[in-house]
Amino acid sequence: MRLTRKASGDGGEISVECTSCGHELVHYDSYGLFASHQSGEKFGDIYRCPNEEGFETEAEAREYEPEHEGDWDEIVCLSSTHNGSFYTDKGGTLYEGYPC
Ligand SMILES: [Zn+2]
Repeated sequence: MRLTRKASGDGGEISVECTSCGHELVHYDSYGLFASHQSGEKFGDIYRCPNEEGFETEAEAREYEPEHEGDWDEIVCLSSTHNGSFYTDKGGTLYEGYPC
């Protein structure tokens, strides 16, 4: 099976990048009025940076924080200060943190 990525702007899934490390964010959830008594209106999407708990490879970690002294696995994306969470609003603007 071949996975194809939709180009952004066609109404499909958009690709968003971590504002700190630049890694592509992972879609985590959507938020909105999804409870059974609510309208079902979607407000936006919730994303997480996969580097929030550390980088996959030493090369990536060193590239992100070249001046770091010590073990590379201590290096984490700065988005960890807000749990690696990002979210978009209805207009598709990306914010740091988690929607209330
Ligand atoms: Zn990041």
